[in-house]
Amino acid sequence: MKRILSGMRPTGKLHIGHYVGALENWIELQKKYESYHLIADYHVLTTTLDSSNIYENTLEMVMDWLAAGIEPETTPMFRQSQIKEHSELFLIFSMLITKARLERNPTLKEQVRDLNIDNIIFGHLGYPILQSADILLYKGELVPVGEDQVPHVEITREIARKFNNQYGIVFPESEPLLTKFSRLPGLDGQAKMSKSLGNTILMSDNKEELTAKIRKAVTDPQKVRRNDPGHPEVCTIFTYHKKFNADEASEIETNCKSGALGCVDCKLKCATKIDEFLSPMREKRIIYENDKQKVVEILHEGEKIANKVAKATMDEVRQVMKLG
Ligand code: SF4
Repeated sequence: MKRILSGMRPTGKLHIGHYVGALENWIELQKKYESYHLIADYHVLTTTLDSSNIYENTLEMVMDWLAAGIEPETTPMFRQSQIKEHSELFLIFSMLITKARLERNPTLKEQVRDLNIDNIIFGHLGYPILQSADILLYKGELVPVGEDQVPHVEITREIARKFNNQYGIVFPESEPLLTKFSRLPGLDGQAKMSKSLGNTILMSDNKEELTAKIRKAVTDPQKVRRNDPGHPEVCTIFTYHKKFNADEASEIETNCKSGALGCVDCKLKCATKIDEFLSPMREKRIIYENDKQKVVEILHEGEKIANKVAKATMDEVRQVMKLG
């Protein structure tokens, strides 16, 4: 069974955009591959130096992973900061790539724009090196990514090649596992659902909370009165219907266009469907919320497995580098 490595930065409770954009895939992939899930807590420091919430945010995120269906028995989940070998391999890898190559990384400019960064710190420039260490420490053969992340995997492959040529073969040349990552628009109609934009529905929101949010969501601005014909193709709520209420989407489209369906009713229907979808996950999450020690134990178990693999890889690295 091939091994895959995927990770997320711990930013606290996840929203349904995270579910659609990543978790849903992870749950499918864990059936076919040996999956390792990294909690990229050091990566958080590239955008904020405040580390005081990282641990709490980690637990919140892991509870959402578990609630969504990531299986801790077969899928180790572990924190980057608890496996010292990440930093060690990052240091060695940073000797194998030039500054110019990192600056050519096409995703760097996008990240700088998206994250609103004025001055690039070294940690940000070196982000793909740490990612390479994250992947190669576990000899991840496949990395599930969307098209936009393929350049990062290419850097990982280059580093692996350079290391193997220089010192001896230790690392696989990881392949991108191109995955169709869907993106949900935010409640405000922006293309992306994002916590920093305040336009999210959390996976843990209860019915009242998510209904209140959906009531305020942006719809077709031309559909002012109930009977006005609408344009579902420009409406955020319709995108949610297509994902969470696929069986009725076609009927909703027809009735929106004809003016038979008003936005208030349509939104309520949407809220009900999303609530039905999230309800089993919420119930599972509550069990973990009431037993956080269990979550900590799951992390510790995952870290034991990750530690063993990481140590074995670093032993090989030291051996081929003749570091004694
Ligand atoms: S009726 Fe529904 S799909 Fe049509 S514009 Fe209103 S909220 Fe959107």
